[in-house]
Amino acid sequence: MALIVYAQVVLPLSSYKSFTYRIPAELRQVVRAGSFVSVPFRQRSATGVVVSLHHETPFKGKIKSVRAVREEPTALPHDLWATIEWISRYYFTPLGLVLKSALPLGFSKPAAQRYETLVAITEAGREALADWRGHAPAQKGVLEWLLARSAPSSVDSLADVTAQPMAVCRRLATRDWVRLEQRSLAADPFRLMTPAAQEQVTLTEEQEGVLTAAKQAIARKEFVPILLRGVTGSGKTEIYLQAAQEVLRQGGAALVLVPEIALTPQVAQRFRSAFDQQVALWHSHLSPQERAWTWQELLKGRFSVVVGARSALFAPLRNLRLVVVDEEQEGSYKQEDPAPRYHARDAALMRAKRAGAVALLTSATPSVESYYNALIGRYDRLELTERFGGAVYPHVRLVDLKAERRNTGNYQLILSNPLLKAIEERLDRKEQVILLQNRRGFAPIVGCNDCDYTADCPHCTVSFTYHKSARLLKCHYCGTTLPSPEVCPQCGSPYIYLHGIGTEQVEEYLRGLLPGVGLRRMDTDTTRRRGAHHRILREFSEGRIDILLGTQMIAKGLDFANVTLVGVVNGDTALFLPDFRSGERTFQLVYQVSGRAGRRRDKPGEAIIQTNHPEDAAIKAAARLDAHRFYNQILAERQELLYPPFSRLIRLLFQGKDQEKVWDRAREMRSFLTPLQKGIHLLGPASAPYERLRDNWRVHLLLKSSREVDLGGQQLHRLITNRVPRSWLERGHQGVRMKIDVDPVSLL
Ligand SMILES: [Zn+2]
Ligand SMILES: [Zn+2]
Repeated sequence: MALIVYAQVVLPLSSYKSFTYRIPAELRQVVRAGSFVSVPFRQRSATGVVVSLHHETPFKGKIKSVRAVREEPTALPHDLWATIEWISRYYFTPLGLVLKSALPLGFSKPAAQRYETLVAITEAGREALADWRGHAPAQKGVLEWLLARSAPSSVDSLADVTAQPMAVCRRLATRDWVRLEQRSLAADPFRLMTPAAQEQVTLTEEQEGVLTAAKQAIARKEFVPILLRGVTGSGKTEIYLQAAQEVLRQGGAALVLVPEIALTPQVAQRFRSAFDQQVALWHSHLSPQERAWTWQELLKGRFSVVVGARSALFAPLRNLRLVVVDEEQEGSYKQEDPAPRYHARDAALMRAKRAGAVALLTSATPSVESYYNALIGRYDRLELTERFGGAVYPHVRLVDLKAERRNTGNYQLILSNPLLKAIEERLDRKEQVILLQNRRGFAPIVGCNDCDYTADCPHCTVSFTYHKSARLLKCHYCGTTLPSPEVCPQCGSPYIYLHGIGTEQVEEYLRGLLPGVGLRRMDTDTTRRRGAHHRILREFSEGRIDILLGTQMIAKGLDFANVTLVGVVNGDTALFLPDFRSGERTFQLVYQVSGRAGRRRDKPGEAIIQTNHPEDAAIKAAARLDAHRFYNQILAERQELLYPPFSRLIRLLFQGKDQEKVWDRAREMRSFLTPLQKGIHLLGPASAPYERLRDNWRVHLLLKSSREVDLGGQQLHRLITNRVPRSWLERGHQGVRMKIDVDPVSLL
């Protein structure tokens, strides 16, 4: 057998290239595909990952040697490695960049295990202190300090007692007068949580049926994609929790993806009570230490279940048998920036396929794509049609805002009479209310009554949002802020108007109207601080908040028995965005938030949706809770316009500071891509709906291939691979960057 002497190594660069290194004799036994190695690169040392090993190389230049291999507890699971490679290919992202985002340890160095040392006085120490004869005053001081405390203390906290706490404690420890112990500072991410009470859940007949089907799929020990559709409150979580338990009983592991941090604490707590120490939590609010710690413990095999948001996809669980994607339609599963621009649901399906695992997608309002895949039999289909525990679905009412304004003569109307009356009733009965307004700030538009001035961000074609509490105009895209104007900056007029309603304004209005009511606002502005989310939800569940007002972050996953009313302040906020998914999004949001009401049998719920467009198909379908009808309608529409699931889409977005150059590059790209094969359509170049963001002009091209023609789904990928110069994929040209977005979730 020929000797393996060369390794192809990828580095965390925006380059498709891999680099050849010689493996020195002493490392040949340990270097494998997937090993982390330290190599010389451009006069410095870099860490890369070995992608392949060879006994010869066609490379004729000077070949440098691998310097060292980093010791990992073990290599990555093969299904994870395969998924990482797939993401690199499918989303046109250099492998090095995928690895960079997938591996939380980073390339640079292994996470330092951070420990703190605890110290406690021993019985011998107490005796020594009682009969102190030594001279060392520092030792005596430390012992006295420790004597006053019953629990072990951090050595660092002794800094007030002595200048060298560690040295003193070590000396005391050699005499057995104190006991030292190490505690990992990795900080269990669960430490903020109060464990949920163990609930004995008896499944309904319908749930039993679905669970049995899921278990049968698990028993097949192969890739089975399933779409579990269940109305809100039907107990989907309980199903996948028990399915995961089944997997663990068989010695396998389960990965549970949930869309948002808002959802994570509640779901994670249920998992914690079901799996105790076997479950790890993974989401974007973990500190780098917590993340690195969790990753390392996972590689060591400490956990069998991971619950987390998008990037939990990369959790190195072994023997994966079940992958759950909860609320699979959620936009937050799509990573937009930086690359890789992957969709965690689709990548999760890929990982399940490589692992031979069951992929369980769940939703009350699936994405149109998944609904369609289940419809044509590509996914198995399971359904829960009843609410759990005999609860009935809320009664949904539409309120026509236009008519309300006409009838009341109040053109500044925020909450209509029917909604106000319903809120007051709930407050009288000590029940709770959820109010959705999917816009933060006070008012989204600020302008002058005497001239044509409107406050727009100077860096984006986006209007400033007025934030009253901060007295600022804020751009929600680039974060630019300006002091809010007292007079018109253009004509000096004092008649500044505000248009539109944000959560701040609803809050102010309600506080004026219902003083003393427990009201909390939950949006990005009130939840920036670590743990804020969790605190608000806990206060709400403990009944210390009567009305929870918020953006879409309150629309999903919340399950509070005492909530009997959901109000949607304006159901139309996303309806007219120039994006083919806006109808789908509106339907999902309104349907989902309505489902927060009436989660228990003895407390039926009601949802009141205020809208300017009561005749709109998406709003009407959501109000009727008629999902099937909505999907049929939207599928017909997508088919006619050749949008997914009837086509594949790749968006090429060009961005740069110089408008002319951006257009030139987009036109040039069009010329590379044409002429087109049959079945491929190329739209554009055209200005993106957000024409300029962060000083960058935005122009896009949209590639579509019809599924009927493009059966293998490779047509568009082949076109890009064959026609687009590699350098365009790796870096910008003349200050213009091209972003490839495969299966874009938004065309804005
Ligand atoms: Zn003016
Ligand atoms: Zn801006």
